[in-house]
Amino acid sequence: MTGNITFTMIKPKAMENGNMGKIIAQIIEGGFKIKALKLTTLTKEQAMEFYAVHKERPFYDGLTDFMSSGPIVAAILEKENAIKAYRDFIGATNPADAAEGTIRANYGTSIEANAVHGSDSDENAQIEAGFFFSKREWV
Ligand code: ATP
Ligand code: MG
Repeated sequence: MTGNITFTMIKPKAMENGNMGKIIAQIIEGGFKIKALKLTTLTKEQAMEFYAVHKERPFYDGLTDFMSSGPIVAAILEKENAIKAYRDFIGATNPADAAEGTIRANYGTSIEANAVHGSDSDENAQIEAGFFFSKREWV
């Protein structure tokens, strides 16, 4: 059975470029229901914990520097088959490869600054949602 919850973040560069509102609008127009929403800034330590699965990768230090470099928006989203639906909706990791009209094609500026995060499994969506939100913060 596939779940109906995914977790997303709007990354610092997209925030800095003034695209927060347009990205949230695209998410809502895409049929994703916002279940929780938060504007915050990650510390380097929090970014390292969030991306711990990538700690052996060469881009880990740069990615966690970047993700703690400025404000982000964290959100829990609901839609049928949410994980796949949202990953299709945001496009490929590298914005240069992302399908036209996807969030990463529209607002990503590099493979690192690819505008948004999207969970890769139901289990990780729950872990990532729990990293940012208590159950009392869900509508
Ligand atoms: P995300 O987990 O952010 O939704 P993803 O699942 O498409 O993205 P992952 O392989 O999980 O991609 O990589 C996590 C993040 O690490 C990417 O979103 C991107 O910001 C960064 N990243 C991935 N590959 C590279 C790379 N080769 N160089 C720099 N940054 C990278
Ligand atoms: Mg990933």
